[in-house]
Amino acid sequence: MAGRTESNASAVADNDTVQILMGPTGSVMERLGYRLPDFTRVSWTSEDARSVWQPRLAAIREAWKRIECLSVLEGIRPRAIVSLTPEELATWPRRFYPKDLLFIPLQVQGAPDHYSSTVAMPTTSRRISFRVAVSHRGRMADFLGAWDADAQDRIAELLGYPLCCFEFFRRFWIEQGYRDTTWPAAAATGVAVIGQFESSVEINTPPETNVLCRWLGARAVPHLPCTFDCRESVVLARALLNVGVQSGFDGEVQWLLQILRWPVEWSALNGIAEIKTPIAKVSAATETTSTKYVVRRVGDGYPAEGATGITFPYSTVKEQAADLFLTKGVL
Ligand SMILES: [Zn+2]
Repeated sequence: MAGRTESNASAVADNDTVQILMGPTGSVMERLGYRLPDFTRVSWTSEDARSVWQPRLAAIREAWKRIECLSVLEGIRPRAIVSLTPEELATWPRRFYPKDLLFIPLQVQGAPDHYSSTVAMPTTSRRISFRVAVSHRGRMADFLGAWDADAQDRIAELLGYPLCCFEFFRRFWIEQGYRDTTWPAAAATGVAVIGQFESSVEINTPPETNVLCRWLGARAVPHLPCTFDCRESVVLARALLNVGVQSGFDGEVQWLLQILRWPVEWSALNGIAEIKTPIAKVSAATETTSTKYVVRRVGDGYPAEGATGITFPYSTVKEQAADLFLTKGVL
């Protein structure tokens, strides 16, 4: 691979960079201007991995939804948006009403089986869910006003997203139309090796801001961080995880942190992202490019059920980080 190491600075011409200058530079991908419809496909690396981790991931997704609501109740952030099934929408508002928490539906959507960057349209052949705003009673009007006005900066502020991450979101999602910000965030974190046919970056970053497993439903922040080591996002994630531990979801929080510590590789080519984890490979829609982009997040743990192999992110050594487990109140 022809390649050259650089940070986010634009390329500087020298004897061997002429071809490289024609390719992508820094955090901006060279995109082709169209995008495949959203899809997510998961293939497990083994039956062993599936039988152990599929139910754990389901439990993590359920716990995360509750943690998002409880974070508002606990004052960690002013408001949240969650996806609720019709059954949940029929029961949660009444359950939380005595605690002064309101649930207002914002949108009806096709029930997502996995993380999706866009809202799926409801159809007669699939279950539906509701995007619902969660807020203390006295603060809901403020949020609904921002929502109806499509005031993205105000919405982000009211959802408790760090300002640095909103500025990143504004630049890439709103202004440039990205729906997968993995490469821009990774290239702003580590040193990107920009090549004519392949660009790559290796990152060694906190588990709390690892959003490369969000397609499996494993994430510790509700937003897309501006970098994979965004300090403010780490602080928010720890507060949310602490809410989970204090609310009886300590098992789910431990599993989530295990997953977020594993090595993971994200790559994108021709509009399809491949996310390789020790237990599953995910295919999903991403930005469409004719050259390959690769992000490798170095891990410090590996599951006993994980696939073995000599290429990244697979390992021949299965061990878990010694300092992994949290106890109540540690976070
Ligand atoms: Zn940030």
